Amino acid sequence: MSANPPAMTLRLFNTLTGQVEPLAPSDGKALRMYACGPTVYDYGHIGNFRTFLHVDVLRRFLLLTGTPVRHVMNITDVDDKIIRNAGEAGIPIGEYTAKYEQAFNEDLASLKIERPEELPRATEHIPRMVELVQKLAAAKAAYKTEDGSWYFRLAAFPEYGKLSKKDLSGMEDGARVDVDEYEKDSARDFALWKAVKPGETAWDTAIGRGRPGWHLECSAMSTEYLGESFDLHAGGEDLMFPHHENEIAQSETATHKPFARHWMHVRFLLVEGRKMSKSEGNFYTLRDLLLKGYKASAIRLALISVPYGHQLNFTFDGLTEATNAIYRLRTFHQRLTSASLAAGENPVMQELAKKAQANYMAALANDLNTAEARAPIFDLVRAANTAMDQGQLLAGDRDAILRVLDDFDAVFDVIRDDDAEPTRRALAWAEEAGRMGDVAPELRERLALSDEAIEALVAERTQAKKQRNFARADQIRNELTAKGVVIEDSKDGVRWKRK
Ligand SMILES: [Zn+2]
Repeated sequence: MSANPPAMTLRLFNTLTGQVEPLAPSDGKALRMYACGPTVYDYGHIGNFRTFLHVDVLRRFLLLTGTPVRHVMNITDVDDKIIRNAGEAGIPIGEYTAKYEQAFNEDLASLKIERPEELPRATEHIPRMVELVQKLAAAKAAYKTEDGSWYFRLAAFPEYGKLSKKDLSGMEDGARVDVDEYEKDSARDFALWKAVKPGETAWDTAIGRGRPGWHLECSAMSTEYLGESFDLHAGGEDLMFPHHENEIAQSETATHKPFARHWMHVRFLLVEGRKMSKSEGNFYTLRDLLLKGYKASAIRLALISVPYGHQLNFTFDGLTEATNAIYRLRTFHQRLTSASLAAGENPVMQELAKKAQANYMAALANDLNTAEARAPIFDLVRAANTAMDQGQLLAGDRDAILRVLDDFDAVFDVIRDDDAEPTRRALAWAEEAGRMGDVAPELRERLALSDEAIEALVAERTQAKKQRNFARADQIRNELTAKGVVIEDSKDGVRWKRK
């Protein structure tokens, strides 16, 4: 974090009001935010992670500007799909979801998504959900059907639709829907609590035997950790209707208070210009991309470089561009930190660093415009490289530029190279999951190259240079570079590292 966080208020688009508005903690202490988390029934795909990454950008920018956050993200570990899949696998739902919850945690770490302060599981908050249904029943906003399920009566909440601005004039009183996810434009009374079939996972509670509906989970857990009214609720744009509308209806009917003041929705992505789908063959999990040899940092940068409110067209060219951009940043950072520079400050460089910093912060403060925030950083790198070539960069400039890069990495987090671990983890997983056939040939070659083999090639290169056989020396360096090994010649001899 910056030593002197600039006093700067984030202005963020609010879906509820349709306006860009300042976002600051209403209690003057910490910004209380809730983001809908994963349903742990499968591995997360890049569309899911685009949303989680942009919430991470929000979180990190708030922290960078000195705003403490209290960030809650739920883990949905019971729903229609989980019950169906666990049933088909013949295992308890807890056993089924544990595997995917762990995978999700690993994927968060791979993408350097900071962990929220709280990651509550739905199955551990059943009493709170039951209480909420009881409150709604007492307010005549919930009713029980013959099979023992509970529904929310939409007619009890006239403001329904205020978030998604849907025209619900055709709404039919008493029409019901009992699935967790539905996309129909017409609203229906929705399930709060579901009676279950024999053999399905259920809880015995004061409102009967059953299990919670998905919408109820988020209302119960957000208000438990953040209070009845809180600052911000985030999620993917696909959750706006009906999920978020239903959360608002339940919560505000139960508490008579505004639920979340600010709503942030992250837009969908396309993959190579088309909607991502398994049938189109363009559906990718994070793990798929790591096995193809892309680095976690490049995936992170590619997914956050287009602002959250815009559709991202995710392409493999874009991933390559991100890979190259990160390489430029890291090479520059390495050059800057290891260069021997004369003491003093160059006023031109000082001014450039100051301007880059100001433009970077202003772009993020303006509705988290990540695309505009990137630009001044890369301009600064270009200018500083030129200044170093010409001996115009001084030691005091280095400090100023490093501070800018620190602030950039406080949000983007791609300069520090932690890419080896996610790839290693993905490969270990591929072996276990029988996915080694999907590992890219380059990645296999890298793996096949042992430390001893690298040492032998490095020694041969040193020998070749001594014998003035520069052609062979270059050939060895190129061969190693192609396999992801970087050689650095220094005063103390030759060092190498895997990229
Ligand atoms: Zn939710």
